[in-house]
Amino acid sequence: MNVADSQRVGSSLEHLGYTLTETIEEADVIVLNTCVVRQSAEDKALGRLTSLTPLKKQNPNLVINLMGCMVGVRGAEKLRQRLPFVDVFSPPSDPGPLISHLTQGEIHSIEDSETTRRFLMMDDELILPVAEQGRLISAHVPIVYGCSHACTFCIIPSRRGGERSRPVGDIVAEVRSLAKQGVKEVTLLGQIVDRYGKDISDGPNLAGLLRLVHEVDGIERICFLTSHPNYFTEELMDTIAELPKLMPHIEVPIQAGADEVLLNMKRGYTQQDYRDLIAKIRSKIPDCSIATDIIVGFPGETDAQFMETYRVLSDLRLDVAHLARYSSRAGTVATRRMDDNVADDEKMRRFRVLEELQEEIVAEINKKYLGQTVDVLLEEKVKGRWRGRTPTNKLVFVESEDDLKGKVIPVTVTWTGPWSMQANLQKQPELIYL
Ligand code: SF4
Repeated sequence: MNVADSQRVGSSLEHLGYTLTETIEEADVIVLNTCVVRQSAEDKALGRLTSLTPLKKQNPNLVINLMGCMVGVRGAEKLRQRLPFVDVFSPPSDPGPLISHLTQGEIHSIEDSETTRRFLMMDDELILPVAEQGRLISAHVPIVYGCSHACTFCIIPSRRGGERSRPVGDIVAEVRSLAKQGVKEVTLLGQIVDRYGKDISDGPNLAGLLRLVHEVDGIERICFLTSHPNYFTEELMDTIAELPKLMPHIEVPIQAGADEVLLNMKRGYTQQDYRDLIAKIRSKIPDCSIATDIIVGFPGETDAQFMETYRVLSDLRLDVAHLARYSSRAGTVATRRMDDNVADDEKMRRFRVLEELQEEIVAEINKKYLGQTVDVLLEEKVKGRWRGRTPTNKLVFVESEDDLKGKVIPVTVTWTGPWSMQANLQKQPELIYL
């Protein structure tokens, strides 16, 4: 979401005539777009911000803009007092305050992210920042801002605000515009992406939106994330199975295996619900890959409860497990009401146990690709090899001297490991002239 937000800030600044610099000392405007999902991320952002003060002293005309979750949606009064050298505070996904500041209020109409977006999209075009034009193969498109859930460990609803779906016409126009600028793959984003449209009375749901995006010429792949187990419908599964541009890769977090822990997290489902969901997805989309998120060491998690998480992961054999050790986050219900009583070394032990298990699982899953021919979207050349991804989001490296950027081509997998694969281009049939 932050990558997408930063691209929009870049677009708006270029629209005002600014250009990107790689050298911080040369900058007239510095935008620090922040993530504060963990306390450590907020501390890091604060450190980075403080390191800018000498530049501001040298050049008082320098404009420093703090943006994102550190500012949040509830006003920045406290931050203003604490950080007097910051000129502009912008909530997540909203370049409006910065544009207003730089134009000395000339553009008065920019009050919220929607009007800002209209400003950015001249004649229904979202112009990518120059540095991304012709280079960006895969783009992120936010479709739902904020979240109205209340998972007890999560700070996002209080920083990004309640759930707001973007109008369908705006999303489709943006995807069309990205396609015209050479983008081949779009990932539709939301904290709970499958709740798209629930706050709009006469619009489509996520499945309906995906059908509309599927119609856009030039877009070859469509992904979406992140799903929530309670909102992943059969209609959505059928849509993925039916439409060829929809990638069979699903990100649906479980967070913990034990029902008591899930209840304390206020996730709203049980372990069995999650198992049933995965079985249903696999019956409808047999070759799909599934990623999950897991937090170990949540307050009160016993060893027996942790072992339930272990068993779920071991039984379900998912393609990816994003693992995190619980860390207390000021402002969350978990920090206010629960005792962070799992010791750090025990959290680390649990993390390592799952990490080892997952490495084994994914190595085994990936072995099945050996010798297979799969379509890969090639994104860029890294250290002499093309880097691409399969429809199931597996990382593949391919050797070729040709310019393959942005191409979807069949390759034959020659080596697999847990985190990546190697493949050869398929040999073209030789022409024989008689
Ligand atoms: S659904 Fe996701 S974003 Fe929303 S509160 Fe829960 S963890 Fe946070």
